[in-house]
Amino acid sequence: MQQGTDLDRLWQAVLGDIEISMSQGNFITWFKRTALLEVGEGSVVIGVPNVFFKTQLENKYSTTVIDALKRNNLPTESVVYKTHTFTSTTQAEENVPKPEATQQQTLMSAVPNQSNSLSHSYRRGINAEYTFDSFVVGSGNEIAYAACRAVSVQPGDKYNPLFLYGGVGIGKTHLIQAVGNAVLMENPRARVVYVTSEQFLQEFVDAIRFKKISDFAGFYRNADVLIVDDIQFIAGKDKVQEEFFHTFNALRQAKKQIILSSDKPPKDISSLEERLRSRFVGGVTIDMQTPDFETRCAIIKSKAESRSFNLDNDVVEYLSNYIQTNIRELEGGLNKILAVCEMRSVEPSLSLATSVLGALNTRPKHLSAKQIIETCAKHFQIPVSDVLSPRRDKDIVAPRQFAMYLLRSELKLSFPKIAQELGRKDHTTAIHSINKIEQELHIDPELREIITAIKEQLYA
Ligand code: ADP
Ligand code: MG
Repeated sequence: MQQGTDLDRLWQAVLGDIEISMSQGNFITWFKRTALLEVGEGSVVIGVPNVFFKTQLENKYSTTVIDALKRNNLPTESVVYKTHTFTSTTQAEENVPKPEATQQQTLMSAVPNQSNSLSHSYRRGINAEYTFDSFVVGSGNEIAYAACRAVSVQPGDKYNPLFLYGGVGIGKTHLIQAVGNAVLMENPRARVVYVTSEQFLQEFVDAIRFKKISDFAGFYRNADVLIVDDIQFIAGKDKVQEEFFHTFNALRQAKKQIILSSDKPPKDISSLEERLRSRFVGGVTIDMQTPDFETRCAIIKSKAESRSFNLDNDVVEYLSNYIQTNIRELEGGLNKILAVCEMRSVEPSLSLATSVLGALNTRPKHLSAKQIIETCAKHFQIPVSDVLSPRRDKDIVAPRQFAMYLLRSELKLSFPKIAQELGRKDHTTAIHSINKIEQELHIDPELREIITAIKEQLYA
């Protein structure tokens, strides 16, 4: 085994190699606070400041490190990263950029706003335009809206935590920020903090790195309302989950409001610590769904009005049919149309809209019951004859129920007619099946995905 200074010298040589293989920012961030602790047969032990460095180096830089070791005559099969306390005399520590000094260094380009990321003020990250007033309430979001309203009136009181989940672009961020805006409107001194879970993670890493963990923890634990968007991203990251757990408990105990959003319900977030999961469902969990046609029309109208455009109904309906699931995309489509109108100084019209966005894949007028049944069978890879048969095997019943549901939702067929299409005499099964699917759609994102997938095939 080699002695400290030898190892240091050796490591400096290896670092020299590593340095030229990556950006300066990455090098300073990940390698300046490392040390070679041991060299064995085909393996080395590298000291790192904490477990974040360890995982980052293991996941992203292991080949870089092994290659550089090999180039310096240290044939290495495996590298072990070990958390290590750097004393002020070690080489590694001397090279650590001080937070103040980093401003002029390349680190800044790697991690923007490094210098002030820990001295943030409250009332952060909230878009003033995301208010309750600018939010259109309709099917799919009305329960979430009501809960957010209630929370904004008496934060920390009833629904704590408030957990909203749903697909992309359906208004989660808008609604949870609306709570923040409303609370601030009522009390401009309220400490309302909005953060995405990724930001939270990044700040946590920085806090550890610059030894500001108590500032970090204190900041979040002092919030009156803490809003964490897209919480699903902390799953699988142990240290930050632990930190969030403590933040959560501190706030909950002090009766401060916590609001969380996610793309799926807590039970479906994999690698989420059990104790967090149970806390997330300890308040109220609300599912947000794609707004229906009428609500989408109202959203388009309100967005157009806010930009002083008056849209004819045919344009509104065209757009609302054109983009059905993601309101962000819907807004994007509208913005494209309005931008062209502004450029050409013309009024928005259906022909302009279709020329900007393309002809609409309109719902084929001739969509038939047969097509729906066939598409469901095909989706589940079973023969149509099975769907129409009297058999009650599980793998046949589900596709049949989906077919019934879609015959109702897409063709508005009567229950007896639906039963008849599926070769059944009694229509009560159709009523039960459709009710069951309608109810489960509210709570089961997988079911929604299946329906969306089948519809996509139907209207493709
Ligand atoms: P998510 O966070 O669910 O992905 P966002 O909150 O970012 O979605 O919403 C995407 C865009 O759609 C935002 O610009 C938002 O203002 C708008 N939006 C979504 N739902 C509504 C609604 N019901 N009324 C008005 N705007 C909405
Ligand atoms: Mg969002």
